[in-house]
Amino acid sequence: HNYTREDIIRIVEEEDVAFIRLQFTDIFGTLKNMAVTVGQLEKALNNKCMFDVSSLEGIEGEEDCDMYLYPDLSTFEIFPWRPQQGKVARLICDVYRKDGTPYEGDPRYVLRKAVAEAEEMGYSMNVGPECEFFLFHTDEDGLPTTVTHEKGGYFDIGPLDLGENARRDMILTLAEMGFEIISSHHEIAPAQHEIDFHYDEAMVTADNLMTFKMVVKTIAKRHGLHATFMPKPKSETYGSGMHINLSLYGRDGMNVLYNAEDVNGLSEEGYYFIGGLMKHMKAITCITNPTVNSYKRFVPGYEAPVYMGWSAKTRGPLIRVSADKERKSRLELRSPDATANPYLALAVLLKAGLDGIKNKIMPPANIDENIQKMTQERRDELHVEELPRNLGDATAELEKDQFLIDVLGGELAKKIIKANKKEYKEYCMQVTDWEIAHYLHRL
Ligand code: GLU
Ligand code: MG
Ligand code: MG
Repeated sequence: HNYTREDIIRIVEEEDVAFIRLQFTDIFGTLKNMAVTVGQLEKALNNKCMFDVSSLEGIEGEEDCDMYLYPDLSTFEIFPWRPQQGKVARLICDVYRKDGTPYEGDPRYVLRKAVAEAEEMGYSMNVGPECEFFLFHTDEDGLPTTVTHEKGGYFDIGPLDLGENARRDMILTLAEMGFEIISSHHEIAPAQHEIDFHYDEAMVTADNLMTFKMVVKTIAKRHGLHATFMPKPKSETYGSGMHINLSLYGRDGMNVLYNAEDVNGLSEEGYYFIGGLMKHMKAITCITNPTVNSYKRFVPGYEAPVYMGWSAKTRGPLIRVSADKERKSRLELRSPDATANPYLALAVLLKAGLDGIKNKIMPPANIDENIQKMTQERRDELHVEELPRNLGDATAELEKDQFLIDVLGGELAKKIIKANKKEYKEYCMQVTDWEIAHYLHRL
């Protein structure tokens, strides 16, 4: 929306809005908010709402903890699930310091910078995500479990699909909040679902992803279910990914990646963009797959990538090129999961691709055979590399990639690396049920 201050003041009045939530996202991708009452609206719109970030995770070491929330007027939405008298609305905000400079630890700022640099080069990036999630039962205390009574599979319908009513409600709610929902379906695993919404420019899509996850979780709860975007909640079945479809447009509004004459449907920039992504992919993975659990998804046999390859022909490579006659060629990156901070993820993807274009980085040759089913000898012959196997390795890759560290900003990158190392160390100290089951009785 192209709202002005006056529009928002008017809508708030007309719609009987009583609370405004000023939302922002922390570096780990968690949506946060400070609620103000409608009496504070003018103050909020004047960028005068202050908040103290000192207790936010990942902030520690910050000298000056009084920050200001600058609402982005285009993000004004009313929450359809809250009471309809004395409604609740939200504004997504940028975080600024007292002296009026943007806070470098704000993920939205990182993406804003990347988008501005793309614009300077004459490009804008459109992003369409595919979010998968599970709907599980809650126990008698209302706490989430990984239990489901559902036996639905790929594209199944009700009554087998027990999530159809919850999914319907999610979609209607999202539509009320301005989403254009493209499609939804039951995914491969029991109780696993996918809802796809229309692509948009990077910042809008990152905001949309934050809203999407909040809505899916909120509506699931109303149906007595727990929605989870955890990448691999059950060891014996498929995980949940968040495939990201990217396309790049030039000043003339034309798709930059496309060339009809080419065997892969790619222009020179198209190759270079892939080259940049491939060059930085291991470090990117630290951002697109930021939890210990993310790496449980990268195992063969569950439709998630394990090896680094790209192709316009096979279905399941890390990067799938789909070029069609309408010049709509796009790249589908299949590694990310929905635990990624979308602002940081889209910033590193965009900047890596632009690095490819700027420095004319040719990607390794495309692999049109099924990499997962190849013998290891064949993979070695083709020099196929693997995605990082765990959060520790991915974090080490980020530490080595100065270019991506600069994209994230040195301070923010340092915080992520530190937090990841702590998380991974803690995880490595755990003795799991699997180990007890396999070793205790015979060792
Ligand atoms: N759930 C699969 C994954 O982990 C993807 C399935 C699909 O292709 O949609 O990425
Ligand atoms: Mg899917
Ligand atoms: Mg896909």
